Amino acid sequence: MKMTKDFHTHTIYSDGKGTIEDNIKAAIKKGLKTIAISDHGPGHLGFGIKKKNIQLVRNEIDELKYKYPEIEILYAIEANILGLDGTIDVYDEYKDYYDLILCGYHFGSNPKKLFRDGEIHLLNFLYKFTKAFEKRTKLLNTESVCRAIENNKIDILTHPGAKGPVDILRIAKAAEKKGTLLEINNSHGHLTEDEIKICMTTDVGFVIGSDAHRPKNVGGFEIALKKAKNVGLDLKRIVNISEE
Ligand SMILES: [Zn+2]
Ligand SMILES: [Zn+2]
Repeated sequence: MKMTKDFHTHTIYSDGKGTIEDNIKAAIKKGLKTIAISDHGPGHLGFGIKKKNIQLVRNEIDELKYKYPEIEILYAIEANILGLDGTIDVYDEYKDYYDLILCGYHFGSNPKKLFRDGEIHLLNFLYKFTKAFEKRTKLLNTESVCRAIENNKIDILTHPGAKGPVDILRIAKAAEKKGTLLEINNSHGHLTEDEIKICMTTDVGFVIGSDAHRPKNVGGFEIALKKAKNVGLDLKRIVNISEE
């Protein structure tokens, strides 16, 4: 069993600490065959990639492909869910730049409509201190994630459930239908073992992502892999595990 593909890494273009080349070098050192550079989408107010850099990163990756032919380098984005209607910040004018679309819910993403969509942020914030609004928080999170999956072409849903409560079964069913993979994230606690177990009752596919924000964490899969093994997930269902 081998894990040679990391689809989830960040660089200085969002909130990562290393350059694109640093991540690539780290990946080669670890024996990876594929790495995706997946910085946060431009809709994040704090650390989203600047719109002006979106094409720049495409060019930089294309140049680095020549320099490092031994590894496949993909340009991805970790898009943000901006509203209850499932809008994400993969804008039409940039769509063609990306090789892969990752998407997740993050605090601090720019709500599409402040009062309607801002409620999700507020509830997820309050959830940290009180469970009083749990039902509504869960409903809004689940609705927005399911609509994002249904209305967009999302390859990987990152860390489902990490930023607020969700109905993971509903999400897994929506993801299964659209062929969206659910990520077992190595840096955040989600999917949790319990969530994996629930998702295992559907035919959804899984992927393990390092979510590395430092080059040294690129290709870090151990924690997530352990969780998958603990709950008896058929490892063939994790797309970035190969049998060689
Ligand atoms: Zn994320
Ligand atoms: Zn990430």
